[in-house]
Amino acid sequence: MADYRVGLDLGSTAIKAVITEGEAILWTGAVPTVPDQEALAFELVEKGRVELGLPDSWSFRVASTGYGKSLCRKADLRLDELSANARGLFRLSGGEARSAVNIGGQDLKTIRLSERGEVTDFRMNDKCAAGTGRFFELAARLLNVPLARFAELSRMPCEEVELNSTCVVFAESEIVSLLARGVSPQSIVRALHASVARRAAGLLGRMEDADAVWLDGGPAQNRGLVEAVEDELLTQVKVTEIPQYTVAYGAAMSLAPRPC
Ligand code: ADP
Repeated sequence: MADYRVGLDLGSTAIKAVITEGEAILWTGAVPTVPDQEALAFELVEKGRVELGLPDSWSFRVASTGYGKSLCRKADLRLDELSANARGLFRLSGGEARSAVNIGGQDLKTIRLSERGEVTDFRMNDKCAAGTGRFFELAARLLNVPLARFAELSRMPCEEVELNSTCVVFAESEIVSLLARGVSPQSIVRALHASVARRAAGLLGRMEDADAVWLDGGPAQNRGLVEAVEDELLTQVKVTEIPQYTVAYGAAMSLAPRPC
């Protein structure tokens, strides 16, 4: 019988699902987080099943993680986000990742991993939305520019400005006044990337080695941010092919392989 596994990451901003057969990723999908997360998560899995052309009698096991993991009563396994993140990233990086920064919708985390992929240290900032995906969403609304265009904008020649506010509420009024002064959206986007990169670097602390840093979470899809973190840390920043799904994949990989 095929070893189908489903990893569900019930995040603060998005619900992510990964369907695997053993370790191989077959499908990924995400929807915004709204109430009734369990029903939404299983609708997403059903969408994946249909797109994969699997029969509705398919047999699969589920592991849930993220803020809403306990809401997923049908899960065979529930695990904390940190373990899922470490497991997923370690596998997707081919065992290379030692230092990681995860930027989620409402928090910022750093993780250090051992040579065997165990978590040796972690830090988290979930007290403030500055430096998180929410901050990007707010800026996208104020600038009237979709997030998917932020990388392109940050590479355009522009005047240099800084965002100095350490609180998202003040940063909002700072962005509004920069716009009123006629500062271009590209300057503001670049300043925003630099400000999030400073926060990530601050939380990561001193780097003890020259290893690359791995960035994951939804905002890691933004190459402009990746480059800003590289400029801030003066080290290579790597991203897996599915940065928003690392945690969901790690959850799926936490299920024991099905015996043949
Ligand atoms: P959580 O697990 O906390 O729900 P995610 O890791 O799913 O958070 O990240 C959600 C954030 O990802 C959103 O707040 C948004 O800022 C960012 N994001 C989502 N899609 C993109 C994209 N295509 N480009 C850049 N950022 C994105």
